[in-house]
Amino acid sequence: MAKQEDQFKKVLSHAKEYGYVFQSSEIYDGLSAVYDYAQNGVELKKNIRDYWWKAMVQMHENIVGIDASILMHPTTWKASGHVDAFNDPLIDNKDSKKRYRADVLIEDYCAKIEGKINKEVDKAAKRFGEAFNKEEFLATNGRVFGYQEKINTILARMGASLEKEDLLDVKALIEELEIADPLTGSRNWTEVKQFNLMFGTKLGASAETAMDLYLRPETAQGIFVNFLNVQKTGRMKIPFGIAQTGKAFRNEIVARQFIFRMREFEQMEMQFFVKPGTQKEWYDQWKATRLKWHLSLGMGAENYRFHDHDKLAHYADAAADIEFKFPFGFKELEGIHSRTDFDLKAHEEFSGKKLQYFDHEENKSYTPYVVETSIGLDRMFLAVFSNSLQEEALENGTSRTVLKLPAILAPYKAAIFPLVKKDGLPEVARKIMGDLKWDFNVFYDEKDAVGKRYRRQDAAGTPFCITVDHQTLEDKTVTIRHRDTMEQKRVKISELKEIIEAEVAVKNWLQRM
Ligand code: ATP
Repeated sequence: MAKQEDQFKKVLSHAKEYGYVFQSSEIYDGLSAVYDYAQNGVELKKNIRDYWWKAMVQMHENIVGIDASILMHPTTWKASGHVDAFNDPLIDNKDSKKRYRADVLIEDYCAKIEGKINKEVDKAAKRFGEAFNKEEFLATNGRVFGYQEKINTILARMGASLEKEDLLDVKALIEELEIADPLTGSRNWTEVKQFNLMFGTKLGASAETAMDLYLRPETAQGIFVNFLNVQKTGRMKIPFGIAQTGKAFRNEIVARQFIFRMREFEQMEMQFFVKPGTQKEWYDQWKATRLKWHLSLGMGAENYRFHDHDKLAHYADAAADIEFKFPFGFKELEGIHSRTDFDLKAHEEFSGKKLQYFDHEENKSYTPYVVETSIGLDRMFLAVFSNSLQEEALENGTSRTVLKLPAILAPYKAAIFPLVKKDGLPEVARKIMGDLKWDFNVFYDEKDAVGKRYRRQDAAGTPFCITVDHQTLEDKTVTIRHRDTMEQKRVKISELKEIIEAEVAVKNWLQRM
């Protein structure tokens, strides 16, 4: 645990020190769970968004994008169920005055039991060596089986109680499990209450005539209300998708994990409209496709897992999360939801406008079913950033901090250095920079010894460093150094573009899917 916390602290301080993420309004002591992306962060974030957009929109003939407004007609949120049901169950500790999400306290309790299962697995793996079969062990070991049963029972009861809005039972469960305030150990809890997560605002000049609005808590509704507009003007045939990236706002009860849970964040969502009855097939297909997208970035298959929901949202007939191993454990990174025809039907009812699709092959109209993929851009940023930050022991006994960002996502693809600030080397370096910047985001640095400049770029995540020295003036060659291997090669200036391109071309990355 201490190691995890240390690693997380390093992530936070590195993100600040290297210009990735700053606390919002820091000079006024910040605003809780609101963050600003800094000069490098904004590039990383943009690259993640572009990588998603390329894979989800531009590589699919039947998926198009939109950019809907943050402010929407307030009836949207009545229809979507957010006014009535976008609540989190909160509980306060009377001694510490800390507020928690009741469901998260229970889930964390289960995660601890899961930790015990993992320990048993590790022990057995050591004992049995090569002959160890994890699946068999999980299915047959009595103790592990007992732990798993306990988790299943707890989560099923919590799911059922939340579904029925039986908050007394959620509190009873917390008491029966003797769950204590993680910060103080106190078990002196208040009742569990529901808390609506939407931020309200007003439209209009005078208090009497102002209209109550909400800042959108998800981007999906902007897609649903535009479903017919896009389908008709784009002449889209089912199955087809509408994608969007943009800000969403949630007044989160507990927002402590840096950019993992923010009050203002960005989502990348795609709603896929399908023929009723085919939703299960598409749900399975999108689960697989989205996992492949993640894996294409090469951040280790062992760091991802699916979590199928026990407790389904009011609109869903199936839902799963892709969880990622963050520095504080496996947590939701992306959700894939089979949303049925709930949203379109609800908007049809509340707006009085028909939101159906005429299927020419079947010669009839129907309300399409929807499979959604929804990922938090900021969470993806945290996944990439925390996974990439490494402390590496070097052969000479020293160590280096290196941010091994997937090259396709790195803010700068190359840094260009003149070895010294004289003898015409800066001019040549600037000329190389001038040529490369048409194709890549590149960085120029002439300050300090070259070794120090290398270290700075390692820590900032730049995949290549290019050094111009006196030999460059004679034979038009430079040294190119690779961030991950630290290997240095002498190459012709004219080859640089191709070398960098080979590592950062989106095609090469997405083709790993
Ligand atoms: P959680 O259970 O963690 O609150 P959720 O299930 O409410 O998340 P969804 O409504 O499915 O999340 O939203 C889709 C995605 O949006 C999530 O997978 C996550 O990546 C991202 N997301 C949701 N809430 C936040 C937040 N407060 N800050 C950052 N990202 C978020």
